[in-house]
Amino acid sequence: MPPREKNGTSKTRKNRAVFMDRDGVIVKEVNYLARVEDMTVIAGVADAIAKLREAGFKAIIISNQSAVARGLLSLSGLKEITRVLRARLLDQNPRARLDAVYYCPHHPDFDKSCDCRKPETGLILKAQKKFNIDLKSSYFVGDSSVDILAARRSGCVPLLVKTGKAGKDGLYLEKPRKIFKSFPTAAGWILRQ
Ligand SMILES: [Mg+2]
Ligand SMILES: [Zn+2]
Repeated sequence: MPPREKNGTSKTRKNRAVFMDRDGVIVKEVNYLARVEDMTVIAGVADAIAKLREAGFKAIIISNQSAVARGLLSLSGLKEITRVLRARLLDQNPRARLDAVYYCPHHPDFDKSCDCRKPETGLILKAQKKFNIDLKSSYFVGDSSVDILAARRSGCVPLLVKTGKAGKDGLYLEKPRKIFKSFPTAAGWILRQ
C-alpha cells in the first residue's frame, strides 16, 4: 500500500468517484429550482452518500443549471442553494459530505456554447484532474439521457434512477448500464461491485 496523505488519498493510486446529477437524483425535481424553500432532499440520499464516502468514493455533483443563463437565478442564489443543500445533507448524516459541486450555468440559447453543459464532459474532466480520478472505475448516477451520455463520453459507468425524469426526457438514445429505483438503491449496488 502506498503511503496515505492527510486527505485520505494516495499519491500513486487514483481515486474512484460517484458523480451524481443534482435535480431528480439528490433533490426532488422542480422546474428550475431557484429558492431554497423549494428544495427537498430525496429520502435516503444522505446515508447513501455517507456510505459511498466511507467506502472511499469521492461524492461529486455535476449539474446543469441553465436557470442562471435564463435569468431565473443569480450565481449568488445558486451558491446559497448549494450551501443549504450541503448543510441539510450533513444534518441528516454528519458523514454525508460532498467532495465537490460543479455547475454549468450556461445555455446555448442565451450564451455562446460551452464545454461544461452535459452531455459535454467539461465538468467531469475538471473533477477528474482536481481529484485524480480513474473514470473507468467511477460511476455517474443520473435521471436523464443527458447524464447517461455525459457518463459514456467520459468513460465512467452510467446508472439511471427512476426518480426525477426517469430517463424519459427523450433527448438521447444512450442506454445506462443499469436502472435503479433511486440514488440509495444505485449506491447499494455500487458498494456491492
Ligand atoms: Mg436531473
Ligand atoms: Zn457550461
